[in-house]
Amino acid sequence: MTVITRFAPSPTGDLHIGGARTALYAWAYAKNKKGKFILRIEDTDRERSTPEAIEIIKDGMSWLGLQHDGPIYYQTARSARYKEVIQQLLVADKAYYCYCSKQELDLLRESQMQQGLKPKYDGRWRPENGKELPTPPNDIEPVIRFKNPLNGNVTWVDKVKGSISINNEELDDFIIARSDGTPTYNFCVVIDDWDMQITDVIRGDDHINNTPRQINLLKALDAPIPNYAHLSMILGSDGQKLSKRHGSVSVLDYKRRGYLPEAINNYLARLGWSHGDDEIFSMEQFCQWFDLQHVTSSSAQFNDEKLDWLNNHYLRGMSDEVLATYVIKQLVLNVDEAKIKEKLQRAISLYKERANTLVDLSNQIIFFFEEQKLSDELVQKYLDDERLQLIGKFYALFDKLDWEDEKINAAIKNFVAENAVKFPQIAMPLRVILTGTDHTPSIASIMWILGRDETKLRIQKYINK
Ligand code: GLU
Repeated sequence: MTVITRFAPSPTGDLHIGGARTALYAWAYAKNKKGKFILRIEDTDRERSTPEAIEIIKDGMSWLGLQHDGPIYYQTARSARYKEVIQQLLVADKAYYCYCSKQELDLLRESQMQQGLKPKYDGRWRPENGKELPTPPNDIEPVIRFKNPLNGNVTWVDKVKGSISINNEELDDFIIARSDGTPTYNFCVVIDDWDMQITDVIRGDDHINNTPRQINLLKALDAPIPNYAHLSMILGSDGQKLSKRHGSVSVLDYKRRGYLPEAINNYLARLGWSHGDDEIFSMEQFCQWFDLQHVTSSSAQFNDEKLDWLNNHYLRGMSDEVLATYVIKQLVLNVDEAKIKEKLQRAISLYKERANTLVDLSNQIIFFFEEQKLSDELVQKYLDDERLQLIGKFYALFDKLDWEDEKINAAIKNFVAENAVKFPQIAMPLRVILTGTDHTPSIASIMWILGRDETKLRIQKYINK
């Protein structure tokens, strides 16, 4: 039997990083089993679903490279099918109209709570042999409820959480169609999972309460019951549920902030699943190794430093040429790209080890292309007369130098020895003047990449020649 998994987001906002992990696991599981992975947009909630959110899901999935098989399914396109099954259930006496008004249901809930009972629909419109039903009122459009079994248990062996058993007495006859005829979430999911022949439902554990209802409905339809795997939620570094309070949690925000999809995927893969001590692996390896036994049933905690570390790893592993294509988009320079290509790649090569994200890398190398304004603090700290005089003396040698980093480096060392000064006395003011900061890699490399003319131009402003 072909394994078929699905990712079934509701398009009501951003693609949350937790949703992306669910998608990643469902995708990897299908790949591991040489099966199929379906993308289904659960857009039946017309008020909360937006076309923008659908685009966000598509962009996020394609950025992460989580390619789905077949078309994208939209629940709104399947209304006719839902109506058909609702009719079948009504005819088979497995569903019924319920005419309770909102006030009636409120009253029922209140009285149950007063008696210390769990609020639950009491089945007053549920047809039973020998039971007399009330006369349907004219002014109420009925909802349709599913006839949930009255006793026995619903049991499934969750692939992540283990065996779960719920007593049917705890469940009520849930609504499958609202009074305006639109089907509800629990109903659509079941029909979709059935029609799309989903073998393994991998989703967040916020849906665990829906599972017994969905299983009962599948049974009533004589549909096969898929395997279920409920993933624990992701917590922020403070142990609370990961949310906007923790900063950006949307996949596309990570993209904007300069993270690489390889790093996000690798990070999410390890966030709640393990393969021995392996921390860094490709998506091919992940798909080969992924199984549900090694998904933890406890909540995983998000760790920004670890993500940065992984992103830095992937950044370093990328060629300067490829990185340049990303960085150029970040820099937004008003220049001919071809003209700065070489300079850009050299700058990237010098700085990529020090950068955690593409944005970070771009910010660190921007000075090569746009001279930075020096802060008063740096001027005061490093550009006193004595040091500027030294710089002026060193500057006088520039025209005779071979402009290559090794040669420049040797020239600085020579100069330092001849003038009996310490290396930082010359290197620090150069750093500040040329880059606008006092933290940089080799100053000789920076001068080489900047070029002789630009180096001279920037220094000229500070020395009396
Ligand atoms: N549409 C649901 C959600 O976004 C997921 C449903 C499911 O995976 O069964 O939370």
